[in-house]
Amino acid sequence: MTKTLISGGTVVTATDTYAADVAIVDEKIAAIFAPHTAPPGPWDLTIDARGKYILPGGIDAHTHMDMPFGGTSSSDDFETGTRAAAYGGTTTIIDFAIQTKGDPLRKGLDTWYAKAEGKAAGDYAFHMIMTDVNDQTIDEMAGIVNEGISSFKMFMAYPGVFHVDDGQIFRGMQRAEELGALICMHAENGIPIDILVAQALKKGHTTPIYHALTRPQIAEEEGTFRALCLAEMAGAPVYFVHLSAERALKRVIEARDRGMPAYAETCPQYLFLSQDDLARTGDDGFEGAKFVCTPPLRPKAMQEDMWRGLRTHDLQVVSTDHCPFCMKGQKELGKDSFAKIPNGMPGVETRMYLLWDGGVLQNRISMNRFVEITATAPAKIFGLYPKKGTIAIGADADILVWDGEKRHILSESTTHMRVDYSPYEGKEVVGCPTHVLSRGRVIVENGVYKGKKGDGRFVKRSTFNLM
Ligand SMILES: [Zn+2]
Repeated sequence: MTKTLISGGTVVTATDTYAADVAIVDEKIAAIFAPHTAPPGPWDLTIDARGKYILPGGIDAHTHMDMPFGGTSSSDDFETGTRAAAYGGTTTIIDFAIQTKGDPLRKGLDTWYAKAEGKAAGDYAFHMIMTDVNDQTIDEMAGIVNEGISSFKMFMAYPGVFHVDDGQIFRGMQRAEELGALICMHAENGIPIDILVAQALKKGHTTPIYHALTRPQIAEEEGTFRALCLAEMAGAPVYFVHLSAERALKRVIEARDRGMPAYAETCPQYLFLSQDDLARTGDDGFEGAKFVCTPPLRPKAMQEDMWRGLRTHDLQVVSTDHCPFCMKGQKELGKDSFAKIPNGMPGVETRMYLLWDGGVLQNRISMNRFVEITATAPAKIFGLYPKKGTIAIGADADILVWDGEKRHILSESTTHMRVDYSPYEGKEVVGCPTHVLSRGRVIVENGVYKGKKGDGRFVKRSTFNLM
């Protein structure tokens, strides 16, 4: 039995802020003591948290480790990606296992188990991407949910690759509702987008900014509205991944105001970056490629719309859509055509820094709301709560001792993701963890990684139960 005491800190959950000592026995939070009332020990380890906050470890509900895309694969695998996540205070990720069109779901899921097994530094769970919805895959869904994969993602974008039609989405939603599973939607109408892309290229418009100009926000608004209608017809809850556009948010707000179980996440890139970054040219006219992700970065004014959505609880979660590609050898595949730039950006490590600095310290969100959008809400929506996502007796001891005042610089050289640039190069932020605990073990201490690959475990998720 290993007993650890984190003493003298201020516990922050989604609802409460109070001074306390937190005791851990092995992998779980065993007791929470009022200040100066913890027994003297002996403790195997004591962590001095005076002047610091005690927060639940971050949960990033949207990552793509080692994911094939456009003839290459995202540059972080489960080892490097979950380690980088841990440095930045994220102790659990939910990654997307992908069904290849024509194959059973099972085959895709087994591929993802193999990618993560023995490699992850922190705990991980999976969503299942469905690229075919047919009698066979509809049948398979029940078994997948029983294994603890209780959400399925479908795409309105990427025709010929991931795209499924409205009938497939509707059937998937009906079945998900029967099983207590949640459908995650990439709601962006990819069919007209592909036509706009072809037309732009024909006119010789090849640079990264055209990625945004060929994916207008109305494509996201229309997809969002259509998915909401399909979900309402199916009587199913729906969760929108990476919501980026003000008009899409409006559709979600309308639906929620009518009482629909509609949920949505946004990502740091839509809160802190904009189309201006995509328009960057750098020395070679290609710097904007660093910022190619989908949906694309939007006009700067929309950042405030996303912050407002977080404040009004119409957006519940901030996930990263972490899907890094190096400039060298990967992004440069699109040097002559923006359509060939692999879509995605690094972010799993920097999410908590950015949201603390740009959210809490800028008075856009409270500390409690910070905890909610980074840990508690994703845990509740995706069936990890109360095992993860809060500081409570019996919960996994995934804990951050957070220094709310420490300054540091975000840079390719100071972060640990396996990618050759940082979208936030040179940006100074305030706030970072001094200690990161994953199920009771200190895996990062004062910026030094103390864990090892294979520490992380697959986590079974329960079914959707917010209704
Ligand atoms: Zn994604």
